[in-house]
Amino acid sequence: MGPLSYLTDQLNELRVSGSFFRLRELQGACEPVSQVDGREVINLASNNYLGLANHPRLKEAALEAVRKYGAGTGAVRTITGTMSIHMELERKIAAFKNTEACVVFQSGFTANAGTVSSILTPDDHIISDELNHASIIDGCRLSRAKIHVFRHRDAAHAAEILDGLQGVSGRKLLITDGVFSMDGDVGPLPGLVEAAEKYGAIMMIDDAHSSGVLGRNGRGTVDHFGLHGRVHVQVGTLSKAIGVLGGYVCGSQDLIDYLYHRARPFLFSTSHPPAVTAACSAAFDLLVEEPERVERLWENTRYFKAALRANGFDTGVSETPITPIHVGEAKEAHAYSAALFEEGLWATGIGFPTVQKGRARIRCIVTAAHTHEHLDRAVETLARVARRMGILSA
Ligand SMILES: *Cc1c(COP(=O)(O)O)cnc(C)c1O
Repeated sequence: MGPLSYLTDQLNELRVSGSFFRLRELQGACEPVSQVDGREVINLASNNYLGLANHPRLKEAALEAVRKYGAGTGAVRTITGTMSIHMELERKIAAFKNTEACVVFQSGFTANAGTVSSILTPDDHIISDELNHASIIDGCRLSRAKIHVFRHRDAAHAAEILDGLQGVSGRKLLITDGVFSMDGDVGPLPGLVEAAEKYGAIMMIDDAHSSGVLGRNGRGTVDHFGLHGRVHVQVGTLSKAIGVLGGYVCGSQDLIDYLYHRARPFLFSTSHPPAVTAACSAAFDLLVEEPERVERLWENTRYFKAALRANGFDTGVSETPITPIHVGEAKEAHAYSAALFEEGLWATGIGFPTVQKGRARIRCIVTAAHTHEHLDRAVETLARVARRMGILSA
């Protein structure tokens, strides 16, 4: 019984509640059909929305960058860690998003946490959707600003909180996910932007699941809703639809210069290796040159959801490729996910504490790279296993 034995106790509790997991191992690239744990499965688990994670153009760009710039950068961005390709990527993203400037972080997580914590102080106020991502929550906590939570997707509630803060000192930051990762629903941006403008709040959105998915060529929710110039801080990720790794913040030149000077993950953690930066850059070229990939993603999304509904599944409030299938408790979600895997379908089981108790689900994410044949087989498997387990009535 060492001093860490309490960890063992907690792990045993996870085992009892059915939430303990083992990491699944991909034995090759992330593809619509992947080799995982010795089995070939249809992959509905990844965030690889556009199928770029294993795209030849990205891989070639990475290899070429390794030959020219090497494997690593030698330091953080403010020392030797800024190469020509880092600046080129930031200029490319800023142009794509139609903003003055952009800063790239090591991940979407550090982009959110580093930005919120550096632009606010303990005297300030954050008005945050109750289902915002963990990286936003951590950024809010790190800033030590006062946190006010509004009901999920309730712009009127956010406005009410802002109204109540009128005359209270400190800056106000209104923040939401663009697309929510668990339900696939879209944040009420027009209403939130209006509230932010009315009360003089900073408007910030996290487009992790909307980058490469919503808007023209996948420009995100600001473009989708026609709100250019009205959102002060736009965060995106390079780790999902872009297919590689990283996060970015787009906004005014002053915002970006400020983050260069003050964002702690930017200042105190080494920059992306050349391979990552160059592959991200190639992905943005593809988004501009081949918008049909985004169209295929949406066509597949409509096809998959329609087939699920035809089989009696409730696809909930999702408006995006994220498609949850609700089953109740965590134990059932994990059992359903495990049974599906045995039948050749990979879809993640998600339960408490990631989602509320009783709201456990498996989450299917459609990509542009799936064929209709993959999706037909997936729906057939989902329905057959659900009937066998009593999730769908027979
Ligand atoms: C995935 C995700 C992130 C983190 O992005 P990474 O690049 O994987 O670190 C941030 N916000 C939201 C809403 C996400 O879904």
